[in-house]
Amino acid sequence: MFRFLFIIAFLFSQLLFSQTDSKLYEIIDGVSSKRIEKDVITLANFRTRNTFSDTISSSEGIGAARRWIKSEFESISKDCKNCLTVFYQKDFVTTKDGERIPKDAWIVNVAAVQKGTKYPNRYIIMTGDIDSRNSDTMNFTDDAPGANDNASGMAGTIEAARVLSKYKFENSIVYLGLSGEEQGLFGGKGFAEYAKKNNWEIIGVLNNDMIGNIDGVDGVIDNRTFRIFSEPTPVTETEKERKMRRSYGGEVDGNSRQLARYIHKTVSEYMPEMNPMMVYRLDRFGRGGHHRPFNDLGYAGVRIMEAHENYNRQHQNIRTENGINYGDVIAGVNFEYAKKLTSVNAIVLASFGWSPKEPKNVLIGGIVAPNTILKWVKSDDDSIIGYKIYWRLTTSPQWEYSRFIGNVDNFELKGIVIDNYYFGVASVSKNGRESVVVFPKDIIRP
Ligand SMILES: [Zn+2]
Repeated sequence: MFRFLFIIAFLFSQLLFSQTDSKLYEIIDGVSSKRIEKDVITLANFRTRNTFSDTISSSEGIGAARRWIKSEFESISKDCKNCLTVFYQKDFVTTKDGERIPKDAWIVNVAAVQKGTKYPNRYIIMTGDIDSRNSDTMNFTDDAPGANDNASGMAGTIEAARVLSKYKFENSIVYLGLSGEEQGLFGGKGFAEYAKKNNWEIIGVLNNDMIGNIDGVDGVIDNRTFRIFSEPTPVTETEKERKMRRSYGGEVDGNSRQLARYIHKTVSEYMPEMNPMMVYRLDRFGRGGHHRPFNDLGYAGVRIMEAHENYNRQHQNIRTENGINYGDVIAGVNFEYAKKLTSVNAIVLASFGWSPKEPKNVLIGGIVAPNTILKWVKSDDDSIIGYKIYWRLTTSPQWEYSRFIGNVDNFELKGIVIDNYYFGVASVSKNGRESVVVFPKDIIRP
């Protein structure tokens, strides 16, 4: 009899697990390269989306572009019984705010929020950029189609909203179009401050900036590899935290890095045909992106982008010189690849959307001992069925080992010497989803 009940319980748990599993596969298949193509073409046809371009015209300039994006989000919302809250978030900048600001203007972002059913104040955010530029970032009148940089990321964000709005999530998902990227990340800064002011609990920010080029200036053509940039530790860490890191480790285990690992793991599991490439740096060498202003406030955020860039097609006036075609035009975007990276985002958003709250206040101990001890404060989330300890060799980029240890608030890993590994703890929900892995913030003191 007990055995029978056990089997029933086991089958039931498998059923719950497979529910979110099969939904993730459904989401991958739901993303359309045709719709992404259509939206990239629409965005590129606004002639220029420079942040300081025309705001009155209905057919060209950044004003027309943002109104179109807002109307797209609104029509998606109409199809899901108003499941999205769509709004503009804006801040005013003047020429005194930066060297690349040609005139005073409003930096206007477009947000669509799909409220979580259980934790509406916990947010996972996908961003793309509204704005574009040509060779001269101060030139806001001549053509700057910005098909890959960054209509691709914007179109991917709109498409993710279309696909995910068909589902309900426990945490909130934000689809965000940011402006002012090319002149100094002003849109991201404004929105990060808006989130902070409204006490948003941000699970992570997925900044998509250029997700459509497969034909690299390095001669490599690759439609499977993509990069996940993440900074090693938060810039907001205190002097005390920095000193602790020196003694206890954590140089490559900040919150953005854990977010990057979560993306890598999710993609490896559900889209094994892709090659996610972790890049252990905030962004490309000396270059910036819109995850950074979120990082500046301590939020976890990463940049997702193609692996091989083509500089002939970025920030270039459209022209032919010595037989080389310059310009960020539609022909340079591979829509099947943009679809794959949009699916990557969509399954990560969904996985986090259904994920439980993470354990709090994770502590670690095991100095001069053969065992490692972890302790944490259980979350009040009633969907949690237990916790999972992760560990890896100090030189490994990904968590290598894990052990589900049930619904407890401490555990001793026998025979695992603390010196040789890094450790973390994640919550596991009854639907099979996991929280991000939380790295210990302090040691267990006697
Ligand atoms: Zn750019």
